[in-house]
Amino acid sequence: MGAVKGFMEFERETPTPRPVEDRLNDQQEVYEPFSVEKYREQGARCMDCGVPFCQSDTGCPLGNAIPDWNDMVYRDRWEEALSLLLKTNNFPEFTGRICPAPCEGACVLGINEPAVTIRNIEEIIAEKGFENGWMQPNPPKNRTGKKVAIIGSGPAGLATADQLNHAGHEVTVLEKADRIGGLLMYGIPHFKMEKSILNRRLKLMADEGVVFQPNSHVGVDISTQELQEKFDAIILCCGSEKPRDLLIEGRDLKGVHFAMDFLPQQNKRNEGDVIPEDISITAKDKNVLIIGGGDTGSDCLGTSLRQGAKKVYQFELLDEPPKERGPNNPWPQWPMTLSVSSSHMEAGGKITKFSVGTKKFSGENGQLKKVHACEVEFGDPDPETGRRPLNDVPGTEFTMDVDLVFLAMGFVHPVHEGLVKGLDLKLDARGNVACDKNKMTNVDGIFVAGDMSRGQSLVVWAIAEGREAARGVDQYLMNYTFLPHSEYM
Ligand SMILES: Cc1cc2nc3c(=O)[nH]c(=O)nc-3n(C[C@H](O)[C@H](O)[C@H](O)COP(=O)(O)OP(=O)(O)OC[C@H]3O[C@@H](n4cnc5c(N)ncnc54)[C@H](O)[C@@H]3O)c2cc1C
Ligand code: SF4
Repeated sequence: MGAVKGFMEFERETPTPRPVEDRLNDQQEVYEPFSVEKYREQGARCMDCGVPFCQSDTGCPLGNAIPDWNDMVYRDRWEEALSLLLKTNNFPEFTGRICPAPCEGACVLGINEPAVTIRNIEEIIAEKGFENGWMQPNPPKNRTGKKVAIIGSGPAGLATADQLNHAGHEVTVLEKADRIGGLLMYGIPHFKMEKSILNRRLKLMADEGVVFQPNSHVGVDISTQELQEKFDAIILCCGSEKPRDLLIEGRDLKGVHFAMDFLPQQNKRNEGDVIPEDISITAKDKNVLIIGGGDTGSDCLGTSLRQGAKKVYQFELLDEPPKERGPNNPWPQWPMTLSVSSSHMEAGGKITKFSVGTKKFSGENGQLKKVHACEVEFGDPDPETGRRPLNDVPGTEFTMDVDLVFLAMGFVHPVHEGLVKGLDLKLDARGNVACDKNKMTNVDGIFVAGDMSRGQSLVVWAIAEGREAARGVDQYLMNYTFLPHSEYM
């Protein structure tokens, strides 16, 4: 620890967002880069505490050695910091941009001061690596002769591929979409992470020997039987793609869409594709309602604003979270506080209506025109289940004129039709694919990782899952493994 009093000398600072009027006119990342000197000061704020909760199980799921690389950044030892970071995180340039940073919620300094800006430091370490040419292809010296197929190319599939390739196996990643990257490519908008960042990493992996095969829908274009014959192990990383629906009157009106029918289209346009007129969904000059107050909803908001929506509203069923941690949510737990995203700031701050239940959509000639809603409140707990019902508040009914609705209420589980049913895979109680501690499913040689196993989660968890599955596969193929355990799986 270099700067003993760094946390007293320097205040928490984070990169400045570009002016709203500029960023709403493009699709580029929201934040301006920071100066290196600023990052070093922020690294100096780390107290190198005896028990670094930021890298414990309530902090970073990858167990990133945060205090060590904070210190290296402060001391200008960037290459060492990069090498240490890459030991636990395959893709710090992704998490450094889009991780919600549970590590910062668990930072000891955060008990009585603003936490260290860990995520931004992670991003700059990765960027320094690319800038200085330290991120070069590093293919394995020897190949094992074993072949593995990874189905799905999101962060879980990519992390599994990276680990298994470095262990010497021949890795093929099959992806049903026309581009590789899963939600990194077709969920997360460019303004949160530009796709040049993803493509740069994919090129590095391809140069190291990973084979990427887009437009390959397993269970449709390619049978699993064919894969089982060709490959020694298969890892399923197909995400949690079944969206939660809102089956109310008017759901089938034209203009009511799932968020994931809308967001990927804009990412495709940003990559130069033309979306055919008959399926194109755009918010331009429309009154838009987003149902769901989470990250996906916030991404719909930022995308709608960039497309020139007339007005955007957002409903959330649950109560407004507090601004500060409540007594039942102490440090170092993930703070369940009100989060204001860059998209909310673009919309002028508070736009979400909390505690609102959507009751009905109505329209004319099959086209959505209005939403009917009311306020809701939690009732008394059910004596048997302890669960509190959400009841309508009488007299609070209202309607709003809307042209477009995006359902952004999360995802229930992976798609079961096709692959999961075809392989007769066992499911857990929530409908995710069940597995043992080595991430192997009930079918010998078939493994699972990421949202498909864990349920809808985060990029950092998908990477952790992929690393753990890779270890299980390596052990299965070789009867030994030197691949590390994921710290908190
Ligand atoms: C809109 C949105 C925004 C998000 N923003 C963030 C964020 O800012 N930060 C964060 O940490 N997390 C975010 N998340 C969550 C995060 O993206 C996911 O947790 C993560 O991508 C899961 O990774 P995965 O590899 O398990 O699955 P995915 O990324 O979903 O990838 C699964 C891939 O499998 C492919 N596939 C499925 N079935 C088949 C098949 N049969 N054959 C071939 N391919 C198949 C799919 O096409 C897809 O490309 C967001 C999620 C959404 C929806
Ligand atoms: S991956 Fe996420 S939780 Fe881990 S150090 Fe980076 S920002 Fe923090």
